[in-house]
Amino acid sequence: MHSILSIIGARPQFIKHAALQPLLQRHFRALSLHTGQHFDGNMSGSFFDELQIPKPDFQLGIGAVRGQAAQTARMMEGIERICLEQQPDAVLIYGDTNTTLAGALVAVKLQIPIFHVEAGIRGFNRALPEEVNRIIADTFSSLLFCPTQEAVENLQREGIRHEGVLLTGDVMCDMLEAMRQKIKPFSTQPYYYATIHRPYNTDDPARLRRILNVLQALDHPVYFPLHPRTQHCMEQAGIASSAFPNVHCLAPVGYLESLSFQAGADCVLTDSSGVQKEAYMLRRKCITLRSETEWHDTLKEGWNRLVFEDLESISDLVHSKPGYYVEGLFGDGGAGGRIAERMEDYFAMAGKKYSSI
Ligand code: UDP
Repeated sequence: MHSILSIIGARPQFIKHAALQPLLQRHFRALSLHTGQHFDGNMSGSFFDELQIPKPDFQLGIGAVRGQAAQTARMMEGIERICLEQQPDAVLIYGDTNTTLAGALVAVKLQIPIFHVEAGIRGFNRALPEEVNRIIADTFSSLLFCPTQEAVENLQREGIRHEGVLLTGDVMCDMLEAMRQKIKPFSTQPYYYATIHRPYNTDDPARLRRILNVLQALDHPVYFPLHPRTQHCMEQAGIASSAFPNVHCLAPVGYLESLSFQAGADCVLTDSSGVQKEAYMLRRKCITLRSETEWHDTLKEGWNRLVFEDLESISDLVHSKPGYYVEGLFGDGGAGGRIAERMEDYFAMAGKKYSSI
């Protein structure tokens, strides 16, 4: 049986891993390594409990490390040690975090094939660390599982057009579809749901204050689970949540709760990658507090709007009416099956190549 080492470390990766790992376990010796990039109980452990994700086989426990380079380097050391010990047949990486980057760099240097889930997405801003991580991960991957047709086309434009590129649909769609029956709108009263955690929105106290003022001025209450970075930045800047009574600051919520908040919201306000997709899949209007998105299809017909400089326009935009809705933008809930099948083919082909030598 071939062994696949999945490398995870951040909240969105736990969700994608929860969708795929049970399928991999049927076909492979499916090992998992948790870097510890996210380590708070409500950013990590709670997802393993809620989504019944098997305990990781290996935990690096990297925790809070200051600086991208130091964090990535520490992860690389740990991942390399486990890869040398376990000799996996492939390394599986998800998305675009520093955990993704560390996994890709270690695996390519050890000549272990890399399989990348959520390949090909681009925000076209190389100043952002996640864009750099995506490009590096895609460059060195043997199998590239693309959530959308646009992702396939992005790879083609970059000259990545080999047989390992496959349009699968999005594993986050698999996860949401598996949960759909359980998702109950949080309230029947009007409200908004907000998640903000990207450094360009949190690290400058003046901007963070401006965002909170905009949320405070909205016509309905805003439910706002605080990512640890956002909470830390508020504390450092001396911003008290009590100064914004319309904004209900919460601890990070669970996955189903996050979907339920979105499902009933008049509008979702976010800078998250995953939440933009979920809002779309739940047919909720979204305002993304960023200057670009990697999910361009969601912008069509006004389902998602980018707002970066003109934050004050948000009070009007929350009332805008989106147009035509395209079903199945992120697949049909069957991405995981296609991914597992393609991995099996990959090893079958590799076996043929070896036996003909
Ligand atoms: N999410 C959650 N609890 C929260 C906020 C978000 O479960 O308090 C979920 C959200 O529904 C989505 C995922 O976390 O499934 C998105 O992760 P995040 O925004 O941290 O990362 P990104 O997608 O921006 O990389």
